[in-house]
Amino acid sequence: MRKEIRLTVKKPYIQKFKKGFPLIEKDAITNMELVKEEGSLIRLEDQQQQFIGKGYVGKQNKGIGWILSNYEHEPIDKTFFLNRIQLALEKRSSLFEDPETTAFRVFNGEGDGIGGLTIDYYDGFYVMTWYSEGIFAFREWVIEAFGTVPFKGIYEKKRFDQKGKYIDDDDFVIGERGTFPLLVKENGITFAVYLNDGPMVGVFLDQREVRKRIRDDYANGKKVLNTFSYTGAFSVAAALGGATKTTSVDLANRSLAKTIEQFSVNGIDYESQDIVVMDVFRYFNYAQKKGLSFDLVILDPPSFARSKKHTFRAEKDYTNLIKETIAITEDEGVIVASTNCSTFGMKKFLGFIEAAFRETGNRFDILETFSLPDDFQTMKEYQAGDYLKVVFVKKSK
Ligand code: SAH
Repeated sequence: MRKEIRLTVKKPYIQKFKKGFPLIEKDAITNMELVKEEGSLIRLEDQQQQFIGKGYVGKQNKGIGWILSNYEHEPIDKTFFLNRIQLALEKRSSLFEDPETTAFRVFNGEGDGIGGLTIDYYDGFYVMTWYSEGIFAFREWVIEAFGTVPFKGIYEKKRFDQKGKYIDDDDFVIGERGTFPLLVKENGITFAVYLNDGPMVGVFLDQREVRKRIRDDYANGKKVLNTFSYTGAFSVAAALGGATKTTSVDLANRSLAKTIEQFSVNGIDYESQDIVVMDVFRYFNYAQKKGLSFDLVILDPPSFARSKKHTFRAEKDYTNLIKETIAITEDEGVIVASTNCSTFGMKKFLGFIEAAFRETGNRFDILETFSLPDDFQTMKEYQAGDYLKVVFVKKSK
C-alpha cells in the first residue's frame, strides 16, 4: 500500500479544485509539512475534512502534485492507470490508422487524466517522459498498462533532478532496441529521430499542423527564413512545399548536422539550402547589413534562452523579436510567430505582435492562428497546459 497523506485546502482555493483545476500548488495547502515523500497519495480535504479530490505528490515547477480524481471512491491503483492509458490510446485511433503519420502524442499529462506523464509514439516505439520523481514512482503500473498493447520497444526520459543517483545509458526500458536514426513520418514528411540520445528526440510533435500548413499553403515560390531552427523541421516542410530557398538559423553546433540529416532523409539537396550556426540576434544584424529579406519568416524561440550576448525571455522580449523580423520581411511577406510560453495566453501574444507592428509603423493582417493539435489533449480548467500559440501574420503595405 502506498502512503496516503491528508492535505487541507485553504478556503479561497476550494472552489477552484472542485471545478476541476488539477495542479496542487503549495500556496493552496495549510499543512504542507506533511508533504515529504514523492509518490505518496494525497487526499485533499476542506477544513471540515470533506473530500475534494485525490492525487499524488510530485514536485514539478509550480506544483507539489496533481489531482487524479474527484471521485472519493475511485481507487488510485493499477487499474486506474490502465484505464486512463487505454482511453488515451483509443482517442488516437485515427492517428494510428493514418499511414502518412507515424509519430504523435498518445498521452498528454493532465489532459489525459495523469499530470506529470507524457507518452509519445514513434513508429512502433513509445517514449514515456516522467516530469517528477513522484510520477516515476508509478512507473511499473504505467509499463504494465502496455501489457496488451503491441509495440516494438519502450524508451523513457526523466525530466527531474536525479541527484546523481542513477543515470540510464540510453533510456531503454523494454522490448527491442531501436536502430537510430529511426525514420518516422508526419503528413508524409520524414523525420529522423533518436530516442536514445538525451531529452529531445529531434522533432517537436506539437507543431504538426503548422508544418503542414506551411508546406501546403505558404511556402511555394518563397524565400524562407527559419529562426531557432533546431533540426530544421520547419525548413524541411517549406522546402517540400516548393520554397525557392530556406535559411535555417540556430546557435547550437549540433543543428548543422541534424538539419543536413532531416533534408537528406526527405530527398532534398541540403547544399541548395542555407544552414547557419549563429545567434539569431546576430543574424538579424547581418541580414540587414547585407540587405537580405524574406517572404516567409518562422520564429519559434524557446520561452527562455541565454546566449553569450543575449538573454531572451518570451514574455518580455517577443515584441522586439518581431520588430527585428519585420525589418527583414518583404512587404506582403508572412511571419509565423510561435511560442510555447505557458505564462501568457493568445490574447497577450497577439498584443505583442500588434505592438511590434505599431512601433515599426507597419500595417498587418492576422491570417490565422494555431494552438495544440488534438493529440496534445488539454483541460479547459488548466489553461497553462494549453501552452502553444502560433500566429500567421502578414506584413501589409
Ligand atoms: N523551431 C524548432 C524548435 C526550436 S527549439 C523546431 O521546429 O524544431 C529552440 C532552439 O533555439 C534550440 O535549438 C536552441 O539551440 C535555439 N536557440 C536558443 N537561443 C538561440 C539564439 N539566441 N540564437 C539562435 N538559436 C537559439
